[in-house]
Amino acid sequence: MEELKEKLSTIFGKDRVTSNQVDLYPYSYDMTECSPGMPDFVVIPENNQQLVQLVSLANECKIPLIPYISGNNVGGLTIPHHGGIIIDFGKKMNRILHVNEDMMYALLEPGVTFGQLKKYLDNNHSNLRYSYPFAPPYASVVGNAILSGMNNLSCKIGSMGDSINGLEVITGMGEIARIGSCFYGKEHSDPGSWWCRYPMPDLLGLFVNWQGMTGLVTKCAVQLWPNPRIQKCYMVIMFGLTDIVDVLQEVGRSEIVDDISAVNTEVIKMTCEIPEPVKIPGEPDFAAILPITAKTEKMMQAKEEILHQVVDEMREKGIQILLIDFLEFAKIFNLRVRCYHDLPAVILSLVEYSGLTWFGSYAPMHEMKLLIQKVYSIFNEHGIPPFIYMKSMKSGHYAIFRPIIRYKKFKEEKKVHMLLEEIAETCINLGCIPYKTPAWMTEKMRKVINPGWLQLFERIKKCMDPNNIFNPGRWNT
Ligand SMILES: Cc1cc2nc3c(=O)[nH]c(=O)nc-3n(C[C@H](O)[C@H](O)[C@H](O)COP(=O)(O)OP(=O)(O)OC[C@H]3O[C@@H](n4cnc5c(N)ncnc54)[C@H](O)[C@@H]3O)c2cc1C
Repeated sequence: MEELKEKLSTIFGKDRVTSNQVDLYPYSYDMTECSPGMPDFVVIPENNQQLVQLVSLANECKIPLIPYISGNNVGGLTIPHHGGIIIDFGKKMNRILHVNEDMMYALLEPGVTFGQLKKYLDNNHSNLRYSYPFAPPYASVVGNAILSGMNNLSCKIGSMGDSINGLEVITGMGEIARIGSCFYGKEHSDPGSWWCRYPMPDLLGLFVNWQGMTGLVTKCAVQLWPNPRIQKCYMVIMFGLTDIVDVLQEVGRSEIVDDISAVNTEVIKMTCEIPEPVKIPGEPDFAAILPITAKTEKMMQAKEEILHQVVDEMREKGIQILLIDFLEFAKIFNLRVRCYHDLPAVILSLVEYSGLTWFGSYAPMHEMKLLIQKVYSIFNEHGIPPFIYMKSMKSGHYAIFRPIIRYKKFKEEKKVHMLLEEIAETCINLGCIPYKTPAWMTEKMRKVINPGWLQLFERIKKCMDPNNIFNPGRWNT
């Protein structure tokens, strides 16, 4: 270990390498109930040359490399399963390298945060915007994109994985590869060349959703979108446990909203400072916020007209639904709920407990009603207030179904894990595909995944990373 530390210090410099227990400890756990695990070293890279040398050293010593940005994935994905070296990209590789106004993209280093990008765009390119999750402003844009996050333009544009134009990666062989339209140019790419990822074979799939198991991403180009001048936000309030699915579907496919984020009533009460809420009979069941943007007043009026029409049609079917101005609601009830709209923000109801975990999944729209019924009653059987968060993706082609659990870290792990296991089994049986998947969950999925997929997956992993140095243990590798 001493010898290895010397070699690492030669690569990164003495003050960018640590093996002090006190420095390693914060990287050994996250907010989830996933088992902790200590790394042996943390290194702070600044450039590709250092990373190429690191990959070569790790292959030689067969020591794991765990890429880390801010550890906010809520899946235990940066907790070392087998010790090794944490590569902390968040501290120094965090520059916004280029924003291209003509082709609407930003080229980022892995450590760029949502807050940093938002501020930069507002100050320098206010005609462009990015899509933000409910993650804190200090979580990373690239981490979210390469895990296929779902953000506040997802009803329009779908998963954030779809919004990646190109990547620069360091492979298991220590080669630097550029993927996407940036692939022209031997040593360097033109900063204006990161505008698309088609029509060559799409090698992006070798790195997106792999949880750092196939290589190191060192640059990522993400699409930006026009920032329309006129913005409004509506809220629907639903009476009836499962009728919210009609909103996800019908408002989704009307193609007028940027996002549909739905939560059950208990979550709204949490936001209004009731930590352990109980739903009183007769209260509504779900609410969803619907941000709408338009280039002109006329366009906004047309969109609002369509929204009212969709809501009227639902009422005609007997659905009890209220449509209100969300920003007025926020003023009357509690300004804390405004942060669901003004993203990126720290959503206090998500982070006010020391523990946070979830079964975050991509879900088939046609099973959503059953999913709500089953998961709502599982929460109640366990005596834990239900927290269900849902989204309509890409005009309703699919949905997000995310039961969330807040808990007291180091005290309630066992109880929480039992609840989560039951939820995971129920949801996987109904076809949900978990994202940011912890290893205990991929173990369950492996039992029902097509064997051909698993063989192909294993072969690709072996080919990309023959010594299994990249984040070993993820997906039970
Ligand atoms: C309160 C809260 C709310 C959230 N809400 C949402 C939400 O609404 N929607 C949503 O999509 N997400 C949400 N998230 C999750 C969050 O958006 C993303 O998971 C996060 O942005 C990932 O960034 P990170 O900095 O935490 O990455 P990390 O957790 O540090 O890393 C993520 C993964 O990427 C790998 N990795 C890191 N760097 C590299 C690299 N350079 N090369 C290769 N692999 C790498 C890591 O090994 C790990 O597997 C939420 C998180 C929190 C805490």
